[in-house]
Amino acid sequence: MTWLFPRLFAGLLVLVAGGVAGYWLGGAVHAPVLSVLLGGALAVGTLAVLDTLRGMRLITWLRSAQETDAPRDAGFWGEIGYRVERSIRARERTAAEEKARLEQFLQAIEASPNGVLMLDANDQIDWCNSVAAAHFGLNPQRDRLQRITNLVRAPAFVAHLQFGKYDEPVSYVDPRGLGTLSVLVRDYGGGMKLVLSQDITERERADAMRRDFVANVSHEIRTPLTVLAGFIETMDTLPLTAVECKRVLMLMAQQTDRMQTLVSDLLILAQLEGSPRPAADRWIALAKLLRRVEADARTLSQGRQTITLTGDDALQIAGAESELLSALGNLVTNAVRYTPEGGRIDIGWRMRPDGSGEFAVKDTGPGIEREHIPRLTERFYRVDGSRSRETGGTGLGLSIVKHVAQRHGGELDIHSETGKGSTFRLVFPAARLRYLEAPSPRMRDAL
Ligand code: ADP
Repeated sequence: MTWLFPRLFAGLLVLVAGGVAGYWLGGAVHAPVLSVLLGGALAVGTLAVLDTLRGMRLITWLRSAQETDAPRDAGFWGEIGYRVERSIRARERTAAEEKARLEQFLQAIEASPNGVLMLDANDQIDWCNSVAAAHFGLNPQRDRLQRITNLVRAPAFVAHLQFGKYDEPVSYVDPRGLGTLSVLVRDYGGGMKLVLSQDITERERADAMRRDFVANVSHEIRTPLTVLAGFIETMDTLPLTAVECKRVLMLMAQQTDRMQTLVSDLLILAQLEGSPRPAADRWIALAKLLRRVEADARTLSQGRQTITLTGDDALQIAGAESELLSALGNLVTNAVRYTPEGGRIDIGWRMRPDGSGEFAVKDTGPGIEREHIPRLTERFYRVDGSRSRETGGTGLGLSIVKHVAQRHGGELDIHSETGKGSTFRLVFPAARLRYLEAPSPRMRDAL
């Protein structure tokens, strides 16, 4: 208010000065009173015009985008300009801060692995993140303010949005074949809706696999149990001769063996899935492993097949000995079990040019049809169920081999031709192999 008294004083001064000037000039026309009044009015009028011009400058600035500073006048208009500008700048700052916060908030929602979709009271799209856009097939810009049910027509989603109980999520298979979505709707802010979506395809698949697995295990265990129960009943009710008794006991022992193998394979699988990766600095002599699997193969074969072994005596492999033995053993055992009498089985190790190494088992067995090969490592997958069971298989062997390979950074490679035989290769990365001494050229070329 520093301008108030100077302004009143200036007005008064101008009025008096105008009156005096009027009186002095009006002497010539002999009308002193009229001249004083006219002079005073003219002076005050001039002051008012100047004042109006300053006000106009301020109004022009206010009508503009206020990107420049307000007019820097002294006095009344100066203070108004200063205060208005300060208030505008403070609001601009608050708006910028709020915008930045909103931006951060939206970025956080955008980073969410789940879909977030905001609907207004008429179920029109207000905003959605890119995950929701992908889940519902929307374009966040183009589809803004579109009614969601015009764009997402999956009946389960539409029914849930319109009549559903929002405390429960709804799951449905995407009609475009993109998997299974779980959608949760929440009401907020007077009729608006927050729609949260999640792709549960993987979870559903894992659940289905677990259900299948439990069903398979139950089936695999029930079969020998039923056979055992039958034998027990037979022994209990029928008067068997000593020879018959011996035979029944032998068959019972076969069934218990089968259950034991199954339980042992299941335990190996559970252990492989639940334990940390094998250490990369625990070195095992490869020759020792090869000789053990060869010995096991010969025992199982009992001379029915010709078995050869080529190895690399100087090589060491880093990993878990029991796992590696189980994987190599499974491949060799399969070769013996599936190769008919008189067939040939070549077991060997070979270094590859890139420094990795492969353990290979090549047989002259029946081979496997091409369509089965990608599924062989699934648990309980068998090409010929009765043949597998007959020879003591559990359907878990190759699944164990694949796990062991992956845990050692390697992979299982299967080549097979029906009628000619199969080659199963376990490839290990260079980082898990080392030589104690330089490899002999003969060993490098082996197999
Ligand atoms: P199983 O206990 O039934 O042998 P695996 O997981 O070891 O289970 O093998 C899966 C299936 O792959 C087997 O049932 C068999 O049909 C096929 N298979 C595995 N190895 C061979 C092989 N060397 N020759 C032919 N078929 C094989």
